[in-house]
Amino acid sequence: MRIILIGPPGAGKGTQAAAISEKYAVAHISTGDILRENVRSGTKLGLEAKKFMDAGSLVADSLIIDMMRGRLGEADAKSGFMLDGFPRTVAQAEALSSLLDEMSLRLDAVILLEIADEAVVGRLCSRRVCSSCGAIYNTVARPPKADGVCDECGGAVIQRDDDKESVIRRRLEVYHAETAPLVDYYEKTGILRRIDASGPRDAALKCLEGLMA
Ligand code: AMP
Repeated sequence: MRIILIGPPGAGKGTQAAAISEKYAVAHISTGDILRENVRSGTKLGLEAKKFMDAGSLVADSLIIDMMRGRLGEADAKSGFMLDGFPRTVAQAEALSSLLDEMSLRLDAVILLEIADEAVVGRLCSRRVCSSCGAIYNTVARPPKADGVCDECGGAVIQRDDDKESVIRRRLEVYHAETAPLVDYYEKTGILRRIDASGPRDAALKCLEGLMA
């Protein structure tokens, strides 16, 4: 199973991809997580990417495409993958298509998580993440059991720098300008599916599982 999840920041791509990849034993590949790991460990890619990430802008296509060429070639991606946060531009989608052709693979579905901008702003301002394992929380709907401590691994639960309101609004602008054109791009391929992502995460997950069946 090879699936792409697209949608604005805060639509729940990370949460849904984690649940689905566990249930169906496919690799969850999040470009945002890979980049944040590079920032944490101070790699050349991390240093280059950080300024764009902090500003809510996109990292250069060439860096992302090289990074994904390596990642999709890793052993765990052989049994299938769920891409979260990639592709994010038409150039990235074209590069992915060539890459999959080279590997004689094809995509099964592209799932669009739909949610209005204002709902995204509310959701992301209250989002918190574990700085150690990446588990996702929400101060209103899903707080950790102990304040600031991850239920899964005991790591520190923090607010991402790019989850501040001004940066969220910038990320939404970037989404509409750069990533929304992928909807037309994939609609033409006939594998685009839409899910209402504005409700509770379990409702979207049920729809997603329905599409998998
Ligand atoms: P995310 O965790 O998916 O919201 O990504 C966080 C940030 O990483 C984004 O705001 C971008 O700066 C960068 N990023 C993640 N994926 C990509 C991508 N496919 N292309 C360019 N930049 C990306």
